[in-house]
Amino acid sequence: MAKLGFVGLGIMGSPMARNLMKGGHEVVAFDVVPVLLENAVAAGAQRGASCADVAARSAIVITMLPDGPEVEQAVLGPGGVLEGAGAGTTIVDMSSISPLVSQKIAAAAAAKGVRFLDAPVSGGEPKAIDATLAIMAGGDEAVFQAVLPVLQLLGSTVTLTGPVGAGNVTKLANQIMVACNIAAMGEALVLATKAGLDPEVVFNAVKGGLAGSTVLNAKAPMVISRNFKPGFRIRLHQKDLRNALLAAESMKVGLPLTSLVQQILMSLMNEGKGDLDHSAIVNFIEDMAGTEVKKPGAE
Ligand code: NAD
Repeated sequence: MAKLGFVGLGIMGSPMARNLMKGGHEVVAFDVVPVLLENAVAAGAQRGASCADVAARSAIVITMLPDGPEVEQAVLGPGGVLEGAGAGTTIVDMSSISPLVSQKIAAAAAAKGVRFLDAPVSGGEPKAIDATLAIMAGGDEAVFQAVLPVLQLLGSTVTLTGPVGAGNVTKLANQIMVACNIAAMGEALVLATKAGLDPEVVFNAVKGGLAGSTVLNAKAPMVISRNFKPGFRIRLHQKDLRNALLAAESMKVGLPLTSLVQQILMSLMNEGKGDLDHSAIVNFIEDMAGTEVKKPGAE
């Protein structure tokens, strides 16, 4: 078993590191928040002193950080992964970041003989815990094959989608479809509710037809029962759509719907709703109509 490094022990990283240990690997872990590192050590991880220290002690280093700036800091910054990594080390960044940043980090890594894969995930905390994440990777086939057994300890589907950056392009495509789907669902259910219909009856009537979707099945019941507990937070989805728009601009691609939903997400963050589930996108449309999507007579 290879010795693995793990940097970023938050909502996703903490259970992922545990699953690597369950799979029989030794894990050297690090997070800038001391209590998160303590928890990982209590769960059996070896204590890393810094990102560089983790890299110096591991053949493969996995990073699971909030966004591109944090990944740049943790990998390229002083005391970062690249400082400690030797030639032949592989970095697997599983954060959801801009594909442009993935490519920048891969180039800096290659200059040191370090291999790099971007491998963001879909599925959220429950699937991180169950090791059933959907993992979408970008990089060289040989690097992918070398780390595949490790990634298979974290996810139920692991797909190489293209060269470095392709994993994050795929993740952004996923995030665009989910966010626009929730917004469309919100418009539909607000219209039906304002027309005096029971939104649950409408949901049950349409879910078996062409409008049916995984998003509809997961999010309509949450909205109707007024449960906006995350799940996937508004602020993370706003970040993902911002990265989608930046990547699209670099390729001169217009994303009008993504742009609109990204503005809705920003407005919700400014209303203090950044930590609600992304199903709260519906709140923006409800506010415009002065109607809440709920069963008739419900409080
Ligand atoms: P999180 O904020 O809970 O965890 C990130 C961790 O990184 C934190 O513990 C933080 O202290 C640590 N960190 C930040 N900078 C660091 C540095 N320089 N060195 C070491 N540690 C550092 O975030 P999360 O929910 O675990 O998400 C991680 C990534 O996974 C994000 O890109 C997110 O978009 C993506 N993602 C999250 C979910 C979800 O449901 N939470 C689902 C799919 C994908």
